[in-house]
Amino acid sequence: MPTFRATLCPACRCVRRTRLVGTATINGHLHELVQCPDTACELVWAVRPTTPQLAAA
Ligand SMILES: [Zn+2]
Repeated sequence: MPTFRATLCPACRCVRRTRLVGTATINGHLHELVQCPDTACELVWAVRPTTPQLAAA
């Protein structure tokens, strides 16, 4: 079952309903790998799992 979360895409510079595609440990801290749903972007990046990165602006 895919997991989605609203996350600010650093490439699109707007909030996307990203899909969780995996996890990674960076510097000993667990991160979630999310992918932008925009077909022209499809960026995959790592976010801190405990910090919802909702757009403030
Ligand atoms: Zn994007």
